[in-house]
Amino acid sequence: MTHKIHKTSDCTEVWECLQTQHKSLHASIVFRPGDIIIRFSAKEILTQPNYLSLQIDRDRHIVLEPDFLQFTNHSCEPNIYFDPKAMEIIALNPIQKQEELTFFYPSTEWIMNRGFACLCGSSQCLKKIQGVAQINPNILYKYRLSEHIKELLAS
Ligand SMILES: [Zn+2]
Repeated sequence: MTHKIHKTSDCTEVWECLQTQHKSLHASIVFRPGDIIIRFSAKEILTQPNYLSLQIDRDRHIVLEPDFLQFTNHSCEPNIYFDPKAMEIIALNPIQKQEELTFFYPSTEWIMNRGFACLCGSSQCLKKIQGVAQINPNILYKYRLSEHIKELLAS
C-alpha cells in the first residue's frame, strides 16, 4: 500500500502518499452529476487571498471549514465545483469510489497570490494556473465559473 487513508466524512477520504506526503481528496462513495458532496463554511474571512483561501465574492476570501478541504487539488478537467453562494461542493461528472476529487481553481479565483505549473495530466491542461484575471478568457467557456468571476469578467 502506497497511501495512508484518512476517513474525513461519510463520503470522502484524504489519501496521503507515503513517499511524498502529498495529500489528495477522494470519494468514498459513488456520486452522480449535481450531487452535493459536502457543505463548507468559513473558518475565517480574509480581505486578501492566500495560498489556501477560496474566493466567495468580489472582495472576500475564506479559509475553508472543514479543514481537510484544503487538500482538494486542482485539475484542468475537474470533477467537482465549489459553489461559493450555496457553500456546497457539487459533483460535475459521475464520480466513482476512490476517484480523486478535483476542482478548477480559477473557477472562484480572480487573482492568485501564487500561480503554479499544472501537472494534472489532462490533454486540456492549461499548464500554468493563475487567477482568471491573467487567463485568456477564450479558454474559460467550458468551465463552470462562479457568479463573482463572471461579473468580474464582464466588467
Ligand atoms: Zn492542468
